[in-house]
Amino acid sequence: MPAGKPCIQARSCPPGRLISDSEYVKMPRTMAPKNLAQASLEDLIEELLRKLCEDPEREGLVRTPKRVAESFRFLTKGYGQSAEAVLKKASFTESYNQMVLVKDIDFYSLCEHHLLPFYGKCHVAYIPNGKVVGLSKIPRVVDIFSRRFQLQERMTQQIATAIDTIIKPRGVAVVVDAFHLCMTMRGVEKQNTYATTSAMYGAFESHERTRMEFLSFIRRDANR
Ligand code: ZN
Repeated sequence: MPAGKPCIQARSCPPGRLISDSEYVKMPRTMAPKNLAQASLEDLIEELLRKLCEDPEREGLVRTPKRVAESFRFLTKGYGQSAEAVLKKASFTESYNQMVLVKDIDFYSLCEHHLLPFYGKCHVAYIPNGKVVGLSKIPRVVDIFSRRFQLQERMTQQIATAIDTIIKPRGVAVVVDAFHLCMTMRGVEKQNTYATTSAMYGAFESHERTRMEFLSFIRRDANR
């Protein structure tokens, strides 16, 4: 049996047949194969289409590598941003010492195992200890960590740790509820399963009453 994959779509590969590596090398392409490090993101996406037996030169796909590259740059722009810098710039001295809660923050991320989206809501609370942070900076921090290839568990912890380290509050709590397309589109294909992760530091970890208060705030009016 020849090496390669069943080919399903490209003009040059009739449905169902296997394409060998030597045939693959001979397939039409707009540019000479380059070494991987020299190839642009666009080149790599064009090559990805070819590897999946598509024809990157057909009308609908001609601009796809450029679009996908732009889309990936946007979806991963958190790598170039620093949550610490954002929080440091916007923190100021304040005597308010009760819970600050920002809930239902929409986020979109990409799972690092499948590069498929996971998305949902993030809820963040902290109890100031002499310092507060501009409220709009909390969703920005969520964006910075979600616009990367991520694990929901790690993202949850990174958000909590950034706030804990920079604001040094009496406590910080982060809860993330997310749908994972790698679960719903493929694999187990369970449409309504969502995953919840949490990170609780300081008072949220040590005081059950504080934790319960936070949880009741975020679950209030929740329709799921
Ligand atoms: Zn996944």
